[in-house]
Amino acid sequence: MKYLLPVLLSVAVISVAITYSNINEKSAQEVAELVISSPEILFHYEDEFTPGEKEKLEKWLIETVKGTERTLGKYPFDLHLYLHRSSNSSEPVPWANTDRSSIQEVHFHVDTRFTLEDFIKDWTAPHEISHLAIPFVGKSNSWFAEGFATYMQNEILLEMKQCTQEDINNKYEQKLNSARPYYQEEEPFAIVAMELRKSHHYPQMYWGGAYFFFQLNEILESNDGRSLGEIMKIYQTCCRLNDKNINDILSSIDDQVEGTPAQDLMKRYRTVPAREILN
Ligand SMILES: [Zn+2]
Repeated sequence: MKYLLPVLLSVAVISVAITYSNINEKSAQEVAELVISSPEILFHYEDEFTPGEKEKLEKWLIETVKGTERTLGKYPFDLHLYLHRSSNSSEPVPWANTDRSSIQEVHFHVDTRFTLEDFIKDWTAPHEISHLAIPFVGKSNSWFAEGFATYMQNEILLEMKQCTQEDINNKYEQKLNSARPYYQEEEPFAIVAMELRKSHHYPQMYWGGAYFFFQLNEILESNDGRSLGEIMKIYQTCCRLNDKNINDILSSIDDQVEGTPAQDLMKRYRTVPAREILN
C-alpha cells in the first residue's frame, strides 16, 4: 500500500528530547531516558496542525514507539513519522502506510477530532511501526510482511495494556474463521495468500499471514521459552540492517535458537497444501 508523497507543505523536525521537554507531566527521569534513547523520532507535519493537536499526536506516537520498543526492541535507525490531516473519518487513523526508501518513513492520515485515548487504542500505528522491524521483502511477499505487522500489532497493544490476551484470542478466532474457507486449496499457503491479495481479499491475506507468526511464536516459546518478540529484540542489533530478504530474516531468527524452526515452518508454508495449514 504505497502512497505518493505530496509536495512538502511544511516540515517540523522535532527530536524526542525537545518533544518531551514540552510535556509537563513526564518526570525528569523519563525525559532523561528518552534523551539517551535511540532511535530518534522525527515528526514531519504535512498539513497545518495547532500546537494542541501536535501535542496529542506526538504523545500518541511516542507512546506507541515505546510500546513497540518494549515488544520488538529499539530500531537501529531514526523513525520519520509524517502527519497528514484527514477529516470526517469514522476512525482516528483512516489511512496509513510505510515508505521504505533511504529513510524509514511512516505516513499517518489523522482525524484530530478523536481523543488521545482513541488514538492510543487504535491498531494502525502499532501495525505500521512494526513493519519497520524487518526489511522490506518485496510486494510479491506482502503476505509475510503484512502477517508480521498484523501479528505484532496485537502484541504491541497488549504490551501497551490496550487489550487483553483474551481479546487477542477472540480476534484470532474470529479472523481466522473468516479467512479459513479461502485457504481450502491444494496449492501452497504462500501461493494462495498472494492470490488473495490479487483478488483484494486483504483481511484474509493479512490474518492468514499473521497465523504464520502465531505458529512461529508458539514453536519458539515451546523451544526455550522465549517469544518471537524476545528474539526480534536481538534481531534489531545483530541483523536488521544486514538482512535483505525473507530467507535472511528466517535464518537470522534460527541463528538465535536451537535448530531451524523458522526456516522449517516457511518450508511448510511454501510446499504443503494451504488447506493442511489452515484447517
Ligand atoms: Zn501493513
